[in-house]
Amino acid sequence: MNTEKHQIRTHTEKYQITVEGLVIDVVRKNIKNLHLGVYPPAGRIRVATPLHINDEAVRLFIISKLAWIKRHQAKYAGQERQSAREFISGESHYYQGHRYLLNVTYRNAPPAVNIRNNKIMDLFVRPGSDTAERERILTNWYRRQLKEAIPPLIAKWEPIMGVEVAEWGVKQMKTRWGTCNIRARRIWLNLELAKKPVHCLEYIVVHEMVHLLERLHNERFRAYMSRFLPLWEYYRDELNRAPLGHEEWEC
Ligand SMILES: [Zn+2]
Repeated sequence: MNTEKHQIRTHTEKYQITVEGLVIDVVRKNIKNLHLGVYPPAGRIRVATPLHINDEAVRLFIISKLAWIKRHQAKYAGQERQSAREFISGESHYYQGHRYLLNVTYRNAPPAVNIRNNKIMDLFVRPGSDTAERERILTNWYRRQLKEAIPPLIAKWEPIMGVEVAEWGVKQMKTRWGTCNIRARRIWLNLELAKKPVHCLEYIVVHEMVHLLERLHNERFRAYMSRFLPLWEYYRDELNRAPLGHEEWEC
């Protein structure tokens, strides 16, 4: 073990260690706290550690969280693996928490998406559109829907919380539902939220806005969440049941 070497390094290092037969991705960088995450779909374990914490301390931390890690890995293993999407008629696709049957129509007209009878998601595309093109049209539609849904939520919560969001955006993210750049007062929301119930979207918007009041996920943060959204823990669990879900430990 070359902990001395790690301790004097100041740049980011990535490597793996094995603890009790589990492979752990370690990222050593200039941060304040140790973070542990278990990520779908395969239950990958990642630890981000401050430069001053050595591998032995990381190892002990992992051992203290083994039960938690295994619980999350089991959860992901039990989740239905989402099959590769082809964007063809008959597939299930989600919007605002509801499941729709995709119905693809090829026509010589501008592409469009239309929700019908609480059951059907019509996707209109040009003749000859391939899978990538069909996906692109549907993804753009999700993005537009989300971009319409977000401003009223921010406008609703700004006066209640006494904060101002300077900038917001939507992007595809693999491991997070949202992020907040506190200094820039900028919020990013995961495009996947378009597929989730509206109260889940609102929960993430409020969560990111609470970061403008409290940077860390600490007691004060949770108190704010409970004051603004008393049922926030249910919404969080609902989101974390989805394949994208992830949780982190801080210490
Ligand atoms: Zn957060």
